[in-house]
Amino acid sequence: MNESVIRAYDVLANKPIQITVQEGRIGSCEPLSEERGPACSEPLPYVAPGFCDLQVNGYQGRDFTSPHLTVDHVYEVADVLWQFGVTRFLPTVTTQAYEVLIHCVRTIAQAVNEFPILEHRIPGIHLEGPYISREDGPRGAHPREHVREPNWDEFCRLQEAATGLIRLVTISPEYETSADFIRKATREGVTVSIGHTAASPRQIREAVAAGARMSTHLGNGCHLMLPRHPNYLWEQLAADGLYASFIADGFHLPAAFMKVALRTKRDRAVLVSDLSAMAGLPLGRYATPLCELEILEDGRLVVAGQRQLLAGAAQPITTGIMNAVVLGEATLPQAVAMAAVTPYQVLGMEPSRYRPGLPVNLILFDVDESEKNQSSDRTHANLSNGGEFAGLPGKRIHIRAVYFWEEIKIFR
Ligand SMILES: [Zn+2]
Repeated sequence: MNESVIRAYDVLANKPIQITVQEGRIGSCEPLSEERGPACSEPLPYVAPGFCDLQVNGYQGRDFTSPHLTVDHVYEVADVLWQFGVTRFLPTVTTQAYEVLIHCVRTIAQAVNEFPILEHRIPGIHLEGPYISREDGPRGAHPREHVREPNWDEFCRLQEAATGLIRLVTISPEYETSADFIRKATREGVTVSIGHTAASPRQIREAVAAGARMSTHLGNGCHLMLPRHPNYLWEQLAADGLYASFIADGFHLPAAFMKVALRTKRDRAVLVSDLSAMAGLPLGRYATPLCELEILEDGRLVVAGQRQLLAGAAQPITTGIMNAVVLGEATLPQAVAMAAVTPYQVLGMEPSRYRPGLPVNLILFDVDESEKNQSSDRTHANLSNGGEFAGLPGKRIHIRAVYFWEEIKIFR
């Protein structure tokens, strides 16, 4: 029988373990005695459940919100995400005309139907918009002409085209129809997240009471200027029941905000990449339907011709995990949980475990602290945050291998 034996350091349980994998399932999982552990041979890799990224807009020019999206694009993006340890993700479809949204959710559902592995890798679609704020700032880069108030009938038609695959929806609670929409979606088992919003604190509270469970990339998609208090940021930070996702790429949020937000949310914090469709392309300028974009040498994706105005995220979820650790607000186990455990809780799914008989979903990785990374990180820190991340010691997650159902990917 085809069997793999994995000896590794269990990040979440904080101990060395030995796992056997047979035909895509966990055969056994035993604690590893210290004699066979890290002391006697070369250091064990870390083992953790595969990361689950709740927000991926596309990659390398393949865009989940495009009238040209194909089933092959969906497969190709999924295939690239193995190398970041992302075994599961939610393709994210953002604000567009109704016909485009229908095409995108239908195509993703077809891909899940056509490629057996995608049925396991894509537990759902994240619909971010079109029911968000029209105001500049909160709206972010979503096209204003396609923003609209929550419309339950329209959502049901989209959900039908998606064959029920829409699992997370980001809306703004600032509309008359918002609370009713949240109640109905929640009743149908769709997780509602608050985002791209200009809502009042009262509307935030009503959304939470109606069933909203998360804040989408809290701290981004906001006004440049806000009343000091009250405002929707404080209200969401203070709502203990709300999970919150963060783009911890080192560019989207300053260190001070990340520190406060992670302390406040603790085990309700979720890390997402929010990877843009333009992420992963070589350095240079690119024409897009909205504007000309540029990928800079430090990895930032900006509006072409300047260096400050971000046009999306381009760092994998592993960057956010190490940034959370480097900020000193999360241990490695806590930061890994923000990408490998908490996302499942948001979706109401059971997180993956190493229990005999269950399908395997695990990654092996090292935390690489080479000199080379240290120097490049200092550059990254200075350019992105005026030195606020200057303490970055140059840690990188290096994925060694992924075991997911019957797939085994080895990286060197
Ligand atoms: Zn967004």
